[in-house]
Amino acid sequence: FERAPDGSLPHGWLYSRNANPTRDALEHCLAALEGGAEAAAFASGSAATMTVFQALGGGAHVVLPLDAYYGTLKLAREVFATLGISISVADMSDVESVRAAMRPETKAVWIETPSNPLVAVADIARLAAVAHAGGATAVVDNTWATPVLQRPFELGCDIVMHSTTKYLGGHGDVLGGALVTREANALWERIRTIQSAGGAVASPFDCWLVMRGVRTLPYRMRGHCANARAVAEYLAAHRAVERVHWPGLPADAGHEIASRQMSDYGGMLSVVVRGGRDGAIATAGRLELFTRATSLGGPESLVEHRASVEGPGTRAPEGLLRVSVGLEHPDDLIADLEQALSRA
Ligand code: PLP
Repeated sequence: FERAPDGSLPHGWLYSRNANPTRDALEHCLAALEGGAEAAAFASGSAATMTVFQALGGGAHVVLPLDAYYGTLKLAREVFATLGISISVADMSDVESVRAAMRPETKAVWIETPSNPLVAVADIARLAAVAHAGGATAVVDNTWATPVLQRPFELGCDIVMHSTTKYLGGHGDVLGGALVTREANALWERIRTIQSAGGAVASPFDCWLVMRGVRTLPYRMRGHCANARAVAEYLAAHRAVERVHWPGLPADAGHEIASRQMSDYGGMLSVVVRGGRDGAIATAGRLELFTRATSLGGPESLVEHRASVEGPGTRAPEGLLRVSVGLEHPDDLIADLEQALSRA
């Protein structure tokens, strides 16, 4: 950061909010991982989301998934609606309903696949085509799939968003977010300005932690996917279970599209247990190896009753438990589920 006697910046870094060598390294890493032109790292996934909306500006209209991460919808409804950004929510598994939601002032279509917490799958290529036909930017929240399992730019999307808190960091010890762009265009310039002028940036240490996590990302994803398959197949056959949402199951509504656009089906699943809210909370309460906690994408398996966390207006069924399948031995995970469900 030190200036030379002539006032120039020999290393190029002026001030940490604008740019920082560790953040630069993470941004180069994430751009390369997604196959994009540039990346920008933020203090959280939600700060990255917020920056996209701010860059679109007042007067913009955005189409969002009905079942987007509830924090994304909360931001859109409670923060950006008041700043003159209007939104429509659409069922992203139905391309025609997204087309019908488009308006002349639509500036972006926000895609989240697989979705949180219903693990629904949206067809990125078809939705990006609908966005582009309306002159809008296609944004994909790629948090759950990661660039290891899903390549949104190759499917036509323009901006990829991540909560690096999850699989990219991979150890449940960091909060962070990122945007990656396919091309450095005018919208990206505005995103960069908001990042450096607004300062909702990732700290250098958090950037370092995410880079350390990324080193093992492909191997961790292999383990998460294999364990999720074992757990999903076990749960789908259990008499105390009403429904399992995991796109790797052939009967799942998202199976066909996920098989086309993902290289594996991910480590997140949700399970609807018999007995509604009380049954779900009691089942989670009996688990010993799974930790009852928010967040996902780390080595430890986590379970959460989403309806309680999201509160009134949630789309999560009362009997639904969201499960982040970790990297423990799958037999241990299944044994824990067995003792919890057999007493249901
Ligand atoms: N997008 C998805 C799909 C998420 O699961 C989350 C967090 O759970 C976010 C965005 C928000 O990220 P953060 O908690 O880092 O702000």
